[in-house]
Amino acid sequence: MACTAESVAAALRAVAAVVAEHRDELVRLDREIGDGDHGENLNRGFAALVSKLDSSVPASPSAVLRLAATTLISTVGGAAGPLYGTAFLRAATSVGDVAVLDAAAVAAALESALDGVVARGKAEVGDKTMVDALTPAVVAAESVAATGGGVAGVLEAAAEAAEQGASSTVPLVARKGRASYLGERSAGHLDPGARSTALLLGALAGAAR
Ligand code: ADP
Ligand code: MG
Ligand code: MG
Repeated sequence: MACTAESVAAALRAVAAVVAEHRDELVRLDREIGDGDHGENLNRGFAALVSKLDSSVPASPSAVLRLAATTLISTVGGAAGPLYGTAFLRAATSVGDVAVLDAAAVAAALESALDGVVARGKAEVGDKTMVDALTPAVVAAESVAATGGGVAGVLEAAAEAAEQGASSTVPLVARKGRASYLGERSAGHLDPGARSTALLLGALAGAAR
């Protein structure tokens, strides 16, 4: 499947559906070590994105990603809104003005997204945040792209690595964000943002399959 503006839009609709489906789970996770709004925040943002895509799909993959960024920044709120917004904004810039994304472009976009999240939130691997899911996802994506994999293979590898990265947050003590206020008591819980990152990449992979 060619990765056009239409297919990027379809993939983001798939993300919105997965976020809606897992809204309560994300709320529950955030209630354990945060303020319980992560599922609601993300669901509001992706629902807003879907209604914008319903009225019109921008002409290029980059423009679709930029619409996602501006919509998430203005509707999600909390810590995750600006972080996901920045991720999509950097991805939009990374892909540039092309009509169709190849595997290398998708892997590079993921790396730019991670760079944006790190620039904005200053979290490192092990701080118990979405960075713990996104970092291994980028490594896996780049390795598949470098060895001749396609877009679906890149996203599949990224999703699997993100899933494992998210699971790795369970024993960690949070050092960034609201969960860090709990200190040692944050250990033993899955980080909601790492979980949502894994869900997001899983939905993108599912759409590319
Ligand atoms: P808030 O904590 O403001 O209510 P959300 O609940 O929407 O925001 O998002 C919380 C998630 O944001 C956390 O689970 C974590 O993954 C992520 N997060 C918080 N701070 C940072 C940071 N500095 N860098 C990366 N991710 C972060
Ligand atoms: Mg929260
Ligand atoms: Mg909040």
